[in-house]
Amino acid sequence: MTVKKILTEPNKLLRQVSKPVDFVGKEEQELMDDMIDTMYDANGIGLAAIQIGVPKRIIVLDISKDQKNKTPMFFVNPVVKNKHVDKTSYEEGCLSVPGQFAEIERPSSCDVEYLDYNGEKKILKADGLLSTCIQHEMDHLEGILFIDYLSKLKKSMIIKKLSKIKANPERIVV
Ligand code: ZN
Repeated sequence: MTVKKILTEPNKLLRQVSKPVDFVGKEEQELMDDMIDTMYDANGIGLAAIQIGVPKRIIVLDISKDQKNKTPMFFVNPVVKNKHVDKTSYEEGCLSVPGQFAEIERPSSCDVEYLDYNGEKKILKADGLLSTCIQHEMDHLEGILFIDYLSKLKKSMIIKKLSKIKANPERIVV
C-alpha cells in the first residue's frame, strides 16, 4: 500500500475519460488500497483512480470523517441511476483543485450500481453527502471537475491561480 502523488489541475490526464475494468483482480485491489491510503493521507473523503493517473473506472470514498472507525467504500465500474429531481448543494472542494471551494448543486439522491472490492455486484441507495460525493467522483471518470460548473470567468481565475502555484513549487512562507 502506497501513498501516490495526486494530480492537480491544470493537467490533461484529469480530463481523460476513464475505461471500464474487465475484472477485479489483485492488481485492481492493490490500486484500490493505494487510492484509499492516498485519500486518507491527503485528508480527502473521495478519490478517483484518474487522480493518481490511472484511467480506470474506480472510485473510493470514506465520508465517516472518523479517524478511529474508518469506513472505506470501493466502487468499480459505478453507474448512477434514478437521480432525484430535487437538488442539494454543498460547498465542494477537490484534491485535484487544491485550496478552492465552491457551492455546487447536484441531485439530492441517486442509486449506484457497481462492483465492490471483491468484484461482487452491488446496488447502493445514496442521499445527502454520500450522493454528492459519488456524483463528484463519477464526474472525474468523465474528465469533469467541479470547477466546470462555475462561470467561465470564475473557472479561468481558479486555473490561473493554480498554474501560478505550480510554477513556483519551491516557494515557502516562513
Ligand atoms: Zn475531486
